[in-house]
Amino acid sequence: MKKVLIVTGAGRGIGAATACLAAQQGYAVCVNYRHSQEAAQRVVETIEKSGGQAIAIAADVASESEVVALFQAVDKQLGTVTALVNNAGILEQQQKVEAMDAARLHHVFATNVIGSFLCAREAIKRMSTNQGGGGGAIVNVSSVAARLGSPGEYVDYAASKGAIDTLTIGLAKEVADEGIRVNAVRPGFIYTDIHASGGEPNRVERVKISVPMKRGGQALEVAHAILWLLSDEASYTTGSFIEVAGGK
Ligand code: NAP
Repeated sequence: MKKVLIVTGAGRGIGAATACLAAQQGYAVCVNYRHSQEAAQRVVETIEKSGGQAIAIAADVASESEVVALFQAVDKQLGTVTALVNNAGILEQQQKVEAMDAARLHHVFATNVIGSFLCAREAIKRMSTNQGGGGGAIVNVSSVAARLGSPGEYVDYAASKGAIDTLTIGLAKEVADEGIRVNAVRPGFIYTDIHASGGEPNRVERVKISVPMKRGGQALEVAHAILWLLSDEASYTTGSFIEVAGGK
């Protein structure tokens, strides 16, 4: 069966590293992005130069109609999806809970939580053996924030990742006998552009001293864990979490 993977938010960071590594492992990859078309196109070109197959498709995962259209486009251009990485995620400026307004909370939860639910729903429709599908695997990108809570920085973001953990546990059990495995990774402090959204581009340098390994992580180190969870080598693994956090 052709391996077809959708990675949400794959224009840069962990998503881009995952898309490139997956292509090397024989997946035809959909590089989803929201705004940064040029970055997504660069990921596609990198994959194509190495002989892989990839397409870039714009969709805001928080929009139900755009998620539906994303999966329909993949059906047409790559074939039926067999793997999904719910990677797209955002955080807002560092702030205490006492200052957070509803608009911020809606934005964070719509992208990080509702986006992952909607993409999982569309994937299940196509993967479920109950619905004529051939099975598949989903990996959700959570965070160590789910268990650390991110006090003084973004408790809303941490709570959204707590919801992703619960989605992983519940959905894994719900679809375990439909040929679909659902797992998650919990990255720690990884060198990507996400920290700039919080107002501190060099955050990893500040906080790495608190990591037992005394360093930040690279996006590719997270991608390796994601690809293992997607692979047949993880065939009896579902509802599980891999910490990619240097011992944090
Ligand atoms: P990043 O460098 O900021 O990249 C995020 C990507 O997601 C961008 O390509 C962005 O695309 C896309 N995106 C954002 N909102 C989207 C939406 N609504 N729909 C579709 N795509 C959207 O982030 P990252 O650090 O690689 O993070 C990836 C995942 O890892 C996130 O879920 C994050 O919470 C998680 N994580 C990261 C760390 C870390 O230290 N970096 C630690 C733990 C967990 P556009 O540029 O087009 O908007």
